[in-house]
This record gives sequence, C-alpha cells and structure tokens, in this order.
Amino acid sequence: MSWNRRLRALTLLAVTVLPAVAAAGPAHAQQRLKVFISADMEGVTGAVTSEQLGPTGFEYQRTREWMTGEVLAAIEGARQAGATEIVVADAHGNGQNLLIDRLPDDVTIIRSWPRPLMMMEGIDSTFDAAIFIGYHSATTNTSGVRAHTISSARLTGVHLNGTAMPESGINAAIAGHFGVPVVMISGDDAAVGEAQALIGPIEGAVVKRAISFHSAATMTPAAGQALIRQKVRAGIERRASLRPYVMRAPVKLDVSFKSYRAAEILAYLPIVERVDAHTIRFSGRSMIEVSRFIEFITTYSIEIEP
Ligand SMILES: [Zn+2]
Repeated sequence: MSWNRRLRALTLLAVTVLPAVAAAGPAHAQQRLKVFISADMEGVTGAVTSEQLGPTGFEYQRTREWMTGEVLAAIEGARQAGATEIVVADAHGNGQNLLIDRLPDDVTIIRSWPRPLMMMEGIDSTFDAAIFIGYHSATTNTSGVRAHTISSARLTGVHLNGTAMPESGINAAIAGHFGVPVVMISGDDAAVGEAQALIGPIEGAVVKRAISFHSAATMTPAAGQALIRQKVRAGIERRASLRPYVMRAPVKLDVSFKSYRAAEILAYLPIVERVDAHTIRFSGRSMIEVSRFIEFITTYSIEIEP
C-alpha cells in the first residue's frame, strides 16, 4: 500500500467510519462491507451458444432472467456474509442484459459502454471484495464454452507482463490495483479452473461442465443459483485470507489480433510497439492505463457516433 493510499484510507476512516461510530456508539456500530459484482453471460447456467447471448437469439430473454437470478443469488450470499453496499457491473454484450427492476433498491448497476474500467467499472479502493458471475475461459484455453478474451471476433490473445490472461485475470488485476481481492467466480469448469490457477484459491461455482465450444453439461438455473449463493457467502467470509491480484508496474500489455491491419495501424502511435505481424505492445504505468488502452483499441472506430 502506497503512502497516498494510506492517506486516503485514513481520510476515509476519519470521514466515514469515525462519525458513524461516534453517533451509534461502539456497541451498535455496523461494519461497512462493500461488494463489487461483475456479471458476464457466457458462464451463466445453461448458456451454450449465441442463441442465449444476444438480443437476436431465441432464448436470450430467458437467459437474461437466469443471469439476473444468478446476480440476485450473489447479492443474497453477499448479504448473508454481511455486505452492506453492493455495486453490479453488467459486463456482457451491450451491457444492458440484467433485468434491473428485479434487483434490490439499494443496489447500483453499471450499464452500457464504453467505460474506462471495462467489466470492472464502478470499483474503487473502498470495496472489500469482488465477485465474478457468469464468466468464461480465455481465447488461449483449449477448453471452455465460448472461450474468448474481450472480443471473440478480433482478438487471439491478451498477455499482462508475459502471462496469458483470461478476462478474470485482467479484471482481478484491475481490482488488485485498488487493493480489492477477488473472492469468488462462477462459470463452467474451464473458466473456474483457469481463474483459480491464476488468481489463487478463490471460491468457484462450477455451474456447467464444458463439452466443447458450444456444448456443456449444465445444472438447472435454480441449482446453479443455489450454488452461487453458497460460494459467494463462503468467499466473502474468507476474504481476509485471499490476496489482491496485483500486477507489477509498469504493466506490459500484449494484444494479438486475428487480422493484420489493426496491429499495423495501432503501431503508428509512438506509445505502441509492434511485436509481430499480429501483436502490439503497450506499457502502462498502472492497470488503470492498461484498462483504458484496451477499452480504446476495442471500441474506437472512425465511424463512432454520436
Ligand atoms: Zn460476455
């Protein structure tokens, strides 16, 4: 923890916690516990193809309900573990998948794009734990339903400081920048195993077993939600034993594109290095710079309007 962060933490303590303690008295002081939930869709119970994952699919509306049910289960598990404040980032597709009128009134939801912290927008150093719901494995994994990293159509690999990263790793590193540990992930067996190998012994809810890119042996939505509720609670209760996943700065980001031209044109920028025909490198002073850079190169287009 840097001096700046120490100072911020102390100021925060003075501004938020101490007056509350003084007002309520030590016996009744309620411990504040903030939980951040990042929700994707490919790893939701039952999701296997694009039919579940976008507005044109025949089963998308049902899958939005299953995804919302999993986020609700995570909120319930978090509350059982003492959570007092919850922010949920809708982190799939158009960022407008969750049925927000089904969520409790004291929850804040982050919707749509672009956003500087991508799937982690809304997190900061005041949070105590981060949760990943509905996650999938990386484009570099030979296993996993809809395995991809950020863009299935355009990217063939994302590395941070030389390590191949799934979205769970990138997002854990963003949480790690703020000193927040990831405590739980749900998804298929490939996504959960990959995250645990990379981030550490976090709780995992395996709601389906990947058979192929477009097939899985899945639980029912209700069974998946029950497992998520239990694992979220266990993860938050174990948060003190789980370390934030911190990337050493400067953070070296390598991005490989399926196509040639993106790498060629991005390398016109003096901050970008061309590593090979399909790969560029950016060095960020922190994960925040890296996150903004990834969001920029995966969002920007000259046709961008309005
Ligand atoms: Zn997704």
